[in-house]
Order: sequence, then structure tokens, then C-alpha cells
Amino acid sequence: MFHRLKTDFRLSIIALLAACAVLGITPFAVMRYLQGNLPAGLVDTSILLGICSALVYAWVTGDTRRSGLAVAVIICSGAVVVGVVVGEPGLFWLYPCLVTTFFLTNARIAVVLNIASVVALMVHGGAFRSDIQMWSFSATALVVSACAYVFAHRNHDQRERLEHLATIDPLTGIKNRRSMDQELDLAAANAERTGLPYALVLLDIDHFKKINDEHGHGVGDDVLIEMVELLRQNTRKSDQLFRFGGEEFVLLLPGVDGIGLKAVMNNLQQVLRKYMKHPGGSVTASFGVALLKHGESVASWLDRADAALYEAKETGRDRIVFADAQRTMDRAGGSAEPLSGA
Ligand code: GH3
Ligand code: MG
Ligand code: MG
Repeated sequence: MFHRLKTDFRLSIIALLAACAVLGITPFAVMRYLQGNLPAGLVDTSILLGICSALVYAWVTGDTRRSGLAVAVIICSGAVVVGVVVGEPGLFWLYPCLVTTFFLTNARIAVVLNIASVVALMVHGGAFRSDIQMWSFSATALVVSACAYVFAHRNHDQRERLEHLATIDPLTGIKNRRSMDQELDLAAANAERTGLPYALVLLDIDHFKKINDEHGHGVGDDVLIEMVELLRQNTRKSDQLFRFGGEEFVLLLPGVDGIGLKAVMNNLQQVLRKYMKHPGGSVTASFGVALLKHGESVASWLDRADAALYEAKETGRDRIVFADAQRTMDRAGGSAEPLSGA
């Protein structure tokens, strides 16, 4: 429970608001019922129930986008109604609402909601003692909104940059192993739900250390970049490529199996053989391919692809080994021979 609150920022804001609503609004609601102010009591109760329902919805469905928007609308309209019903003391509730809208929904909607709330109070006018008070309130509300906007915008940018740093390999620009773990989990869950086949390809450049040793690290880096470019150009948009580490890559291929998968793999091997060059000659790679089995864990799926890759290396490199079909497409480019262990 705490893990979800820690990792999902918007959910934590909704939960915080629900806690504040229960602790902060309930006493006011009770007080207003006791004072006989039924409309104000009903407004407080509606805000309370609205926020709590949105929290339950967000928690159960994980959809914090819609629930965040709903809470933003509830608190802004609630604050306006409280201002209208209670008068001047109710106006203060709008300030925290103007700040939190930016954390509940996107900046544009938050700006619209904030301006609409202030304008609604101004048009009604009943909550203010004088014009000066109305204009002072409106000006300060706009200043608060502008500051919250700048802060939220910066926060959003920094979060995106951090996410980029944490998930993208800086040399090749493709997703790193951390993203791969998440995507493989998603793929396994999707396969379980929809029955869509998923193939995982572990690709390791052959004798890469030799390229580094003989031609320098810079040439090695260029080979990695070129390899990624070629793989990108020769796979579908729905396929995903990850840098697994060093000179190893993982390709996740959804919706392909059997003969189709063999054709895709043969094509990739031919493309690499034809176009992958370095100053000392051609560059080849070995491939271990595994189809996700029904109910299989991601760890076991990766292990089978790794065992197939190991087999490809052991049996001479520049090969494709299919863990499932237990067959190898050899150097000659297509003839099949039985595998010993993959
Ligand atoms: P094999 O055919 O068995 O795969 O042999 P290999 O030489 O490709 O494999 P090995 O694991 O012995 O060497 C991998 C090398 O990759 C060693 C490491 O220095 C190099 N390497 C890892 N990351 C990078 C990188 O980002 N840039 C460069 N240029 N080299 C890297
Ligand atoms: Mg290698
Ligand atoms: Mg390696």
C-alpha cells in the first residue's frame, strides 16, 4: 500500500486530499448541520464523498488521470460553492485548491479550472465585502496560480528528464535493461490476457572485444550504434529493442511465431551480414530466440533465450538458435540442424 503511494505521485496527492477532507471538512460539516445551515452542510458532505469516491476509483482501477481530473473539478467547484454559501470565510478554501489542481491534472486544464473558479466568484460577487476586497482576492489568487504553474511545470520537466536518464542508454539512445524488465512484465501479462505470441531475441555481437582491442573503443562504439540503427530499420514499429548490457541486445517481437519468426530472424541475420562492417572486416552476431510459453515467468523466458544464445556461441557463432523448435539455422543461411541442448 505504501509502495503505491510512494511511487504514484498523483495517487498520493488524491489520498492526501481525501485524508485532509476527512479530517478537515468533517468537523465543518458537523458544525454546519448543528448550526442548522443545511446547504453548507450538504456542500461539505458532497465534497467529502466526491473526493473519497475518486480515491477508491483511483486505487481500484489505477486510473489516476480521470480521478485526478474529477478531484480537481470537485475541489474547485466545491470551494466556489462554499464561498457563495458561507461568504467571506469560505473564500480561503480556494487557495489550497488553486495549488493542488496542478498536481491533479495537466497544467492547461488546471489553468482553466483556476481562472473559471476565480471568475465565478467574481461574477457572483456575494462573497466579497467590497470591490477592493474582490480585486485583491482575485489578484492574489492569480499570483498563487502562476507560482503553482511554474513549480508544477519545472517539476514535470525534471521528472521527464530523470525518467529519460533512468531508462535510456546514452550511447545508442534505445531503452536500457531497466525499461526492458518493465516491458517484459507487461508483455507477459498481455500474453496471458490476450494469447498474443511474444518472441524474445537475445543478440550478442561476435568477438566484439577483438574489435575494441584492434581498432579502439571508439570504433567499438560506432559498431554498437550502427547495429542499433540497422535493427531499428529492419524491425516493425511494434517491436522493441533494448540494450541488455555491453554488446548484448534484446529484441521483443509481439505477434510473431513459427515460420514468420524464422523469416524475421533470417532476414535480420542477412541484413547484419551484408551491412555490418568495421575497418577490419565484417561484424556478425549470434542470436538466441525463445517464444513465451503459456504461464511462463519472465525470468525463465530470458533463461531459455540465454541458453539458446549460449548454444549459438558454442556451435560456432553467427547463428540463430530457437529455444522452442530446438533447431539451428546455420552459417550457410537457412539449412536446419538439430540442437543438442537449447
Ligand atoms: P563473444 O563472441 O563470445 O561474444 O565474444 P566477445 O568478445 O563479443 O565478448 P566479451 O564478453 O569477451 O567482450 C565484450 C566486450 O564488449 C568487452 C567490453 O569491453 C566491450 N564493451 C562493453 N560495453 C561497451 C561499450 O559501450 N563500448 C565499447 N566500445 N565496448 C564495450
Ligand atoms: Mg559478444
Ligand atoms: Mg556478451
